[in-house]
Formats: sequence, C-alpha cells, structure tokens
Amino acid sequence: MRSLIMDMKAIQMVDLQGQYQRIKSEIDLALQQVLDEARFINGPQVASFQQELALYTGAQHVVTCGNGTDALQIALMALDLKPGDEVITTPFTFVATVEVITLLGLKPVFVDVCWDTFNMDVRQLDTVLTERTKAIIPVHLFGQCADMEEILAFARKYDLFVVEDACQAIGSTVRFSDGSIKQAGTMGHLGCTSFFPSKNLGCYGDGGAIFVQDEELAARARQIATHGSSQKYHHQRIGVNSRLDTIQAAILSVKLKYLNDYTDARRKAASFYDIALQNHPSVERPATADFSSHVYHQYTLKCMNGCREKLMESLKSAGIASAIYYPIPLHLQEAYAYLGYHKGDFPVSEALASCVLSLPMHTELDENQLKYIVAHLK
Ligand SMILES: *Cc1c(COP(=O)(O)O)cnc(C)c1O
Repeated sequence: MRSLIMDMKAIQMVDLQGQYQRIKSEIDLALQQVLDEARFINGPQVASFQQELALYTGAQHVVTCGNGTDALQIALMALDLKPGDEVITTPFTFVATVEVITLLGLKPVFVDVCWDTFNMDVRQLDTVLTERTKAIIPVHLFGQCADMEEILAFARKYDLFVVEDACQAIGSTVRFSDGSIKQAGTMGHLGCTSFFPSKNLGCYGDGGAIFVQDEELAARARQIATHGSSQKYHHQRIGVNSRLDTIQAAILSVKLKYLNDYTDARRKAASFYDIALQNHPSVERPATADFSSHVYHQYTLKCMNGCREKLMESLKSAGIASAIYYPIPLHLQEAYAYLGYHKGDFPVSEALASCVLSLPMHTELDENQLKYIVAHLK
C-alpha cells in the first residue's frame, strides 16, 4: 500500500486531461480545422454534430444550445405555458431544473425521490396534481432513467407535457413493457442534455442540446434559441441567444464516437466497486432499476450510521477525492424558501442529502486505482 501511495497521483473525481491525451491527435485536427475555416458561430460542424447526435440517440430532432440549463429553459419556453402554471419535479437534483421553472414565472412543485434509485417517486404524482399542473420534469439522476413508463402514462392521462432532464444520463436506455427501448432524452415531448466538461459526453467549455420528437415543437425550440427568429431580423416570439460554439461541436463530434467506450469504462469501474463493496458493513451500493440501464455519471454510495464525514476524511488523506451530490435538497435552499416548503416535507431527499457520497467515476480509472480506492473503503 505504501508504495502504491507514493506511485499514485491523487485520484480525482474526473480525469479530463487523461481523456484528452488519448484522443489528442483527432481533437487537435478538428480544432485546427475550425480555426482555419473561422466559422466560429453556426459553422458546418454544428449541423453535422446535430445529425450525428440524432442518429446516436434516435431523437427525431436535435437542437443544440449554450448549456444544459439553457436547454431546460428553451424546452419549457417552447411549451407556451402561462405564469403560475405548475411544473412537477424533484428536490434532490442540481439547481438548474428548478431555477428555469422559476425564472419563467412557473411554479415548481416537488415530489420526493425513491431511496433506491434517487429518481422521482411516481407514486406521489397523484398527490400534487392540480388544475394548474402542466408539465413534469423527471431528472435521470446520476445516469439512470426515472420510471418513464409510469411518468408518460400519468402525463397522457392528465394531458401534461414531459420534459426530461437527461443532463446526467446521455446513452442510458429504458425498456418499456411492450419491448421497445428508448434513450434518455427521447421519451418525453422534449429532452435536455448538457455537455459540461465532466458530463458523460463533455465538451471543452459549455454546451447543451434539446431532443425533440415533434417537428413543430423542434422548430419552435430552434427559433427560441435564435432570438425568437427563423429569418434574420424577423422575430416571431421572444427568444434567447443560446448556441453551441462551432469549436465545441467539432470536439463533440470526435468524442461522440467514443461515447460507447466511455460508457463501458464507467460501467466497468462501477462493477468493480459493486463487487468489492458487496458486504461492506456501513455503505449501501447504488441500486439499478430493472427498467433502465445505468451510465454511471456518478457512482453514489449511501453511508450508514453517520460514517460519511469520517469516510470522506480518510479517503482524502489517502489522496482519493469524493464528493457529495447533493448536500442540500432544493426545497431547503434559501433561494426557494418562498415556495413555502419545510424540513420534513421530503424525507427521502433529506435523508439522502445527509448520507450520499460519490466516488471517483470517469473513463480513465485503471484497475490499480480502483483497487487502491476499494482497499481504503474497506
Ligand atoms: C449539469 C446539469 C444541468 C445543467 O447543465 P449545464 O450545462 O451546467 O447548464 C441540469 N440538470 C442536471 C441534472 C445536471 O446535472
């Protein structure tokens, strides 16, 4: 162990440098081409990446934009909801989801998540439905899809829109009871993803995309992302300026070819953790739902008996990073106090916030590093 510590650089949550080094020549070539052509906004690489991503995911239409948060905002704007309309989502997620609902004058309404999967507890949808409920945003947290069959059935029954937050789950799939298989982001009316560098398909800056099945809705999303305009200097609606840079599209085209390999690498690391932590007395391993595959954006443990902080400390002293996603559920955040929720309203989210711990999870983890991490956890 001592020699391992000395040989080993600190193990980070992600290793973007190592990942770049393996595809450096391809990336550098793609970048050079963009520099030479100097079509930095809406260059040809943007359109081709959109097509490639549509092919990969099976989405009818892909509209790229500036980041995952913008993707969510544009998707919601495309639904033409009215101020005060209610959008159901979960409080155990990254803040972006709720932020955009609020910014658009809509009302976030929370349901709790399931302890096992960290995803929306569909049994609670009934309890929050009102006349004003217009949409549901399921978040496919940590790389595993929410129970989309149930969510879509509920939405059909009450005529609601479904906007998937697939920012952490690109490439994850759901198997429906009719045998069909669909990718994260392509099941709802709209789906959103992020190309933030540490996401499963990350670029070298900010980027995002919206998946749309309906042609008219896709045209609307594209128009909104382009200042509400389909023809230059003619503005049909109030829009935003949100674009994927040509440079980022060129990078993403290269990296998309490796996404399946990246997912395999993540799954391999996860199964190593799974086996090694099988009989661990004080951590619970992440569960996998039977209807969804897992792309392990995060490998997230639950630490029992208040052992999290001790575990984090001990990992840290061994040069191993770990992180808490997310330490405070959104209904208890200062910014969202105005919604009127209280401690105790979402007991599962609150319990998870106090015990979750994510381990290093990326495409460059090798067996020595994994063995070293696991030895420390034990
Ligand atoms: C990353 C993320 C976002 C936002 O994506 P950005 O590209 O950082 O704006 C939204 N929702 C979830 C669940 C995310 O993980």
